[in-house]
Amino acid sequence: MRKNSTGFQTWAEVAPRLVAVAAGRAAADMVIRGGKLVNVHSREVLDGWEVAIAAGRFAYVGPDASHCIGDGTEVVEAEGRYLIPGLCDAHMHIESGMLTPAEFARAVIGHGTTSMFVDPHEIANVLGLEGVRLMHDEALLQPVNIFTQMPSCAPSAPGLETTGREITPEDVVEAMGWPGIVGLGEMMNFPGVVAGDAKMLAEIAATQNVGKTVGGHYASPDLGPAFHAYAAGGPADDHEGTCEADAVARVRQGMKSMMRLGSAWYDVESQITAVTEKGLDPRGFILCTDDCHSGTLVNDGHMNRVVR
Ligand SMILES: [Zn+2]
Repeated sequence: MRKNSTGFQTWAEVAPRLVAVAAGRAAADMVIRGGKLVNVHSREVLDGWEVAIAAGRFAYVGPDASHCIGDGTEVVEAEGRYLIPGLCDAHMHIESGMLTPAEFARAVIGHGTTSMFVDPHEIANVLGLEGVRLMHDEALLQPVNIFTQMPSCAPSAPGLETTGREITPEDVVEAMGWPGIVGLGEMMNFPGVVAGDAKMLAEIAATQNVGKTVGGHYASPDLGPAFHAYAAGGPADDHEGTCEADAVARVRQGMKSMMRLGSAWYDVESQITAVTEKGLDPRGFILCTDDCHSGTLVNDGHMNRVVR
């Protein structure tokens, strides 16, 4: 049977079996019972809900999965533990972990990570578009969701850096046609955007023209006209906030405020009060690591550490 790039069959291909398992006509591969299901759709913790899995997908999620258990079913007793969805790192750079996409995925799957939005701008500094393509191609082969953003700024501070290669608006146009590219990576040249730099605005336009998302990176405490000019340029999110006022300002502009806890950044505690104290809608906020060194992965974990 045909399999997609990750080796898993598509939902459409396994739907007949999922239906049969949920209806009790076929046995699941695995049933997890005795846990507390954290339901992020209804925002409830459902005590005693059980999960039946077939062909690597959820077939049944409900109060009693005993009808899904057959001779070949592996039954896992959760013993009161919480069952949560896979964790997502909303913005990060795999190269900061000193690893390739395959090895990074191997390191974080055990910590519960199932999705990552990655911007391979470090390799872009060295190998340009060719390096981005290598990371993009390897990301598509992994058994977790790795969504690649096209790096926007190599160099990030023109005139102050001597990168090996440069990224051009033409490179961005080309990459937007690749299958795994979901948008433009952090627009670090925020002074360029604020000043109306033609190259930066051309990269943003190339992204918006194909209906994809522009990632932000406004690394300044100035929340005056410069910040508003940057927001007007089109970035949909920003992870450079370090205090509550930064987080609030971003969400008020309709941007997603990303809060970081990586190897170098500790910006969750100082910004989460925008939700816990000021009562802003939590859907405007996203957790990420930005940079996660392999030592941090081994010793402290990945997104499970951030959530804790
Ligand atoms: Zn970043």
